[in-house]
Amino acid sequence: MLYLVPTPIGNLEDITLRALRVLREVDLIACEDTRVSARLLKHYGITTPTTSYHAHNEARKALELIGRLKAGSRIALITDAGTPGISDPGFFLVRACIQQGLPVVALPGPTAFVPALAASGLPTDRFVFEGFLPSKKGRQKRLMALAEEPRTLVFYEAPHRLVKTLDDLAQAFGDSRAAVVARELTKTFEELARGTLRTLHTYYAAQPRIRGELVLVVAGTDYKSDPHWPCDRVQVTAAFPPTP
Ligand code: SAM
Repeated sequence: MLYLVPTPIGNLEDITLRALRVLREVDLIACEDTRVSARLLKHYGITTPTTSYHAHNEARKALELIGRLKAGSRIALITDAGTPGISDPGFFLVRACIQQGLPVVALPGPTAFVPALAASGLPTDRFVFEGFLPSKKGRQKRLMALAEEPRTLVFYEAPHRLVKTLDDLAQAFGDSRAAVVARELTKTFEELARGTLRTLHTYYAAQPRIRGELVLVVAGTDYKSDPHWPCDRVQVTAAFPPTP
């Protein structure tokens, strides 16, 4: 049996009791980066053996893990953060298991895009998760294909690409499209910046360096502008405002 076990996206308290039990009881934990996961496992006193499974060894390693699953092993898959299979190498192993008729059980738990979307203030009744935009080939085509999307759009992005992505999105969707950057969710410096694609671009372009992990939430074409939405400036809310 393969268990997909979500792990915290920052705050180590964000893990379910069931996830901890499964991690204790399985025969093996396949980790994206064993050093990253060691911190979590040590924190919870989990001594289950680990092995690495990541984007650079997924084809070879999936074969090995499938062999062990067929022999009756119970394996948990965890990634550096969040739910395995969401914008990470988990998908490859899940598909390989299904092709081999092996059962896959996904535990519910942390994933970065859900708290970003939920706290964004943009419509959540219908949304589309786009993950990472292509960095080069196919990027423009994807942007054009999404420009008329009526649902709220959710993207993952690396901090060093945020300014370029906001600029590209503003050019493709229009400067005034409402958007939110959710940064460092569940961590000490968690912050949500609300504005338009252009005001957010200007705001982040003025920062010497953007740190941390982030999710970008962008209004769809169906969004009826909220009179309270900060359109002419960026409004930043922090979970832990720095003391004066
Ligand atoms: N599997 C993960 C999930 O369930 O969300 C996503 C893995 S993907 C490789 C990593 C991306 O998730 C980051 O580049 C960032 O966009 C987003 N992310 C992860 N942790 C985050 C956090 N604490 N705050 C904001 N975004 C985060």
